[in-house]
Amino acid sequence: MSVAVSIDELSDEELDTVAVEFAGTAPEEVLAWALDTFSPDIAMATGFGLEGCALVSMIAGLQRPVRIFYLDTDLLFPETYALRDALESRYGVRFERRATNLSLTEQALRYGDKLWERNPDECCRLRKIEPLRQMLSGLRAWITGIRRQQTSTRAAARVIERDPQFDLVKINPLVSWTKQDIWRYVRDHEVPFNPLLNQGYESIGCVPCTTPISIGEDSRAGRWRGQNKVECGIHLQGNGR
Ligand code: SF4
Repeated sequence: MSVAVSIDELSDEELDTVAVEFAGTAPEEVLAWALDTFSPDIAMATGFGLEGCALVSMIAGLQRPVRIFYLDTDLLFPETYALRDALESRYGVRFERRATNLSLTEQALRYGDKLWERNPDECCRLRKIEPLRQMLSGLRAWITGIRRQQTSTRAAARVIERDPQFDLVKINPLVSWTKQDIWRYVRDHEVPFNPLLNQGYESIGCVPCTTPISIGEDSRAGRWRGQNKVECGIHLQGNGR
């Protein structure tokens, strides 16, 4: 797969054409293309979900230097931090920690206790979106593990698309994979994953905003349960598709 002109110069319509070209392409091939095209101005984000773990395994297989970062809200599960360490030792990677300078104590003093219960959008903005914005500024592309099947807000995602919220190109190598596809890859390649996934959790974020789900519930129904919120604001479908 090759694109002759600089990807930065493509219009949204031309980028759509590239995305159509990539439809059905193996994630490893998409990753290799993305690294060829954007390195060193590209990084991968992970929240250590199943998809992120699979992508870390794929990137390790490419044997290319890639920045991989995570947003540390200081509220992640102990199992998530342990998984981070397990992935580092298994694949020889070093995850970049990105976080706000605002400690939880300072946040409580300034915004009140348990902001996530009263205003989760503001809490996510402080602890996730702003550190992410800082990380992405200066990059030309970022890689994510989102899949169309995960939630209706991701149903129109493309394998490659413009990210108007952060003003760069977004690469989603697993966008068309099903949950079964991910589990098959993880099992076939013995990729470490979060043990909470075997305890009823499907999508794992911060401790105060994550619960297990029941059979038949949407995979992200356990996030911000009881609140009118399904995304932290990182993966908004801002391009109107
Ligand atoms: Fe705050 Fe919850 Fe968002 Fe984590 S997921 S940053 S605790 S609102």
